[in-house]
Amino acid sequence: DIVTRFAPSPTGFLHIGGARTALFNWLFAKHFGGKMLLRIEDTDRARSTDEAVDALIDGLRWLGLDWDGDPISQFSRVGRHGEVVEQMIENGTAYRCYCSPEEVDAMREKARAEGRPPRYDGTWRDRDPSEAPKDIAPVIRLKAPQSGETVVEDLVQGRVVIPNKDLDDFVIMRSDGTPTYMLAVVVDDHDMGITHIIRGVDHLTNAARQTLIFQALDWAVPAMAHIPLIHGPDGAKLSKRHGATGAEAYRAMGYLPQAMRNYLARLGWSHGDEEIMSLDDMIKWFGLDAVGQSAARFDFKKLENLNGHYMRATPDQELLEHWKTYLQHAEDGASVLHWLASSNNESVALAALPGLKERAKTLVELTSSASYLWRQRPLDLDEKALKILSDEAKTILKDLHGVLMEAGDWSAEPLETSVKAYAERKELKLGKVAQPLRAALTGRGTSPGIYDVLVALGREESLARIQDQAV
Ligand code: GLU
Repeated sequence: DIVTRFAPSPTGFLHIGGARTALFNWLFAKHFGGKMLLRIEDTDRARSTDEAVDALIDGLRWLGLDWDGDPISQFSRVGRHGEVVEQMIENGTAYRCYCSPEEVDAMREKARAEGRPPRYDGTWRDRDPSEAPKDIAPVIRLKAPQSGETVVEDLVQGRVVIPNKDLDDFVIMRSDGTPTYMLAVVVDDHDMGITHIIRGVDHLTNAARQTLIFQALDWAVPAMAHIPLIHGPDGAKLSKRHGATGAEAYRAMGYLPQAMRNYLARLGWSHGDEEIMSLDDMIKWFGLDAVGQSAARFDFKKLENLNGHYMRATPDQELLEHWKTYLQHAEDGASVLHWLASSNNESVALAALPGLKERAKTLVELTSSASYLWRQRPLDLDEKALKILSDEAKTILKDLHGVLMEAGDWSAEPLETSVKAYAERKELKLGKVAQPLRAALTGRGTSPGIYDVLVALGREESLARIQDQAV
């Protein structure tokens, strides 16, 4: 059975690149009916605060990426890592090295000066332990093969061959008895029964070193897939200067998780020309053979358009829930949430959503164009609305107030009929009537369809707002 894992280090947020790695692991596992495990690489104790771990989990949850079983703390497995190192010393695949840091530095310097890559020279590799100085706590090094080559049969990068002379006897346990990252990953992947390691291509050199550890322990090497990194629009590795890099920032910018998932899935993977894919389709179609080797460029415009699509395609009730989640994380969301929670405002919002979502690419835009719902009378008018509300327009509003007072059924169709009849009677273009109405009802020059607005506001509030601007 297929078992994958997502193994983030807590950095304080879920990086977009990490989110994409998690998604690929998740899709791969789901495609084969396997499992995805979550391992938190929390051995850096200073960075691994509860908040940092929670932020990762929060990001994954928001994206709808779940995992099997409880998250596994790498730090909690330090005892097991130590046992494995002991076992390696016993079977001769690792040894104690008593070189001081200064000696190691000098070795590296010398190698550099001679134009060789800076490598440990094997001083303690074959020395008798009885020569060990008493006052130095040793590090433990892997006794790596000195000739030949290490091969990583990568499912994305192909056959990667690394000469063993380029991989020295690297440290697997520090002098304070803590395991290195290189060792911990191998022991954990083995113990967790990982069949496929899917991660960023920046781990490819680690893959060769980790392969040596697997071999030293006589453990099966999991299949590996090193996926290309995400670049910014300019082709440089995605970083803060391109824009937001954390999943939570995209939530706060009003993106929907389903749009993010769809967008991230296509960063490095494709299925024909399909741009929009349901989750079921992604699971059905996902495969590592269609993951390319070249870096994918993050295209903010594309993401925005995709998000617009998902806004329109998401059923209103579900969109409302996403909107609330967004508001919980948006800077000025609290007041809107407060409004939503009182009287029947939630159904008011729900009724207005079809009109709102047609025009909004993000929940930020949706919130802004929905604001006519909760803004208080008399409305602040934006510049366009001020311009629209000329004396002539105000006279029209006075007439309209009278016309709409007479409306029997306060729903879109009959309201539209009355307004159109009025325009015809006065021989006015519809825009001449609709624009003042819009300005009076929303305080803005642009808004969702005015009949939807009238219905969402209700009879009383609509008439009051029209009255406010009429002469
Ligand atoms: N913790 C590593 C990272 O966040 C990933 C390690 C791995 O996937 O093997 O980059």
